[in-house]
Amino acid sequence: MSRERETMAVIEAKDVTYAYTSEDDVSPALWNVTLSIEPGEFVAIVGHNGSGKSTLAKLLNGLYTPASGHVVVKGMDTQDERHVWDIRRTVGMVFQNPDNQLVATVVEEDVAFGPENLGVPPAEIRQRVDEALEQVNMSAFKDHAPHMLSGGQKQRVAIAGVLAMHPEIIVFDEPTAMLDPEGREEVLAAIRDLNGKGKTIVLITHYMEEALLADRVVVMTGGQITATGTPREIFADETVLKEAGLTAPPHIELYHRLKNKGYDLGECPLTVDELVDKLCR
Ligand code: ADP
Ligand code: MG
Repeated sequence: MSRERETMAVIEAKDVTYAYTSEDDVSPALWNVTLSIEPGEFVAIVGHNGSGKSTLAKLLNGLYTPASGHVVVKGMDTQDERHVWDIRRTVGMVFQNPDNQLVATVVEEDVAFGPENLGVPPAEIRQRVDEALEQVNMSAFKDHAPHMLSGGQKQRVAIAGVLAMHPEIIVFDEPTAMLDPEGREEVLAAIRDLNGKGKTIVLITHYMEEALLADRVVVMTGGQITATGTPREIFADETVLKEAGLTAPPHIELYHRLKNKGYDLGECPLTVDELVDKLCR
């Protein structure tokens, strides 16, 4: 991102260590993680299973608090109990399984659940629910039963439920992992759209194609951040992904194979079209 940043980071994690059990002390789930997220940024977090992504996600909205170090959300330290609810309201979370996130028998009631719990007045809830469903393109389903929807639709309802609480930042923990290709597309389109409208997005994913959509990619290995950079910077470096146990998308793999054989293809392509362009030249 070339744009000058004048504003304060919305989330600042500094030297964060977290262990689930005391036996974990020798190799904690997360150690010395430092990460700052700027307003409006779209950050993708990638890493092998068990690398600490979900643990980090839960530290970012105060569900967990650091064993050492600090997580500060809009100036509020997550260890300060007075801020718990403000922080949860500011940082929304969307998880992998939409079925675990839907609570009501009608879509619009489900979306209303969050703001109701926040004590939002009924007239405003109505408005928030309509807006949230509109934003994820699910208005036509407001009277439907969630369990009758497709996976992608359910996940979009879950996202609407989070949006209705008016978070500034949304952390998505592998939101497309349980969806078919069509559902993945729908959910990704919704995420990109939200970012386009100014929401700060943290997207945890094991689909490298999804990481290509972000402003910045953070790579986690064994509870630590091992690399961070633009998608082009991260995917241009074969060893970063290899050491993290990850595989680049096929067109980037092909680029590296050709490059290693001596073909000069210039900078790393982000899309298939970019690669084709290079090959045709
Ligand atoms: P990821 O989301 O990248 O797969 P996690 O954050 O879930 O990784 O896990 C990081 C490490 O913490 C792993 O070693 C995992 O086994 C451990 N862990 C995760 N959740 C728990 C838990 N509830 N209790 C004990 N250990 C856990
Ligand atoms: Mg996880």
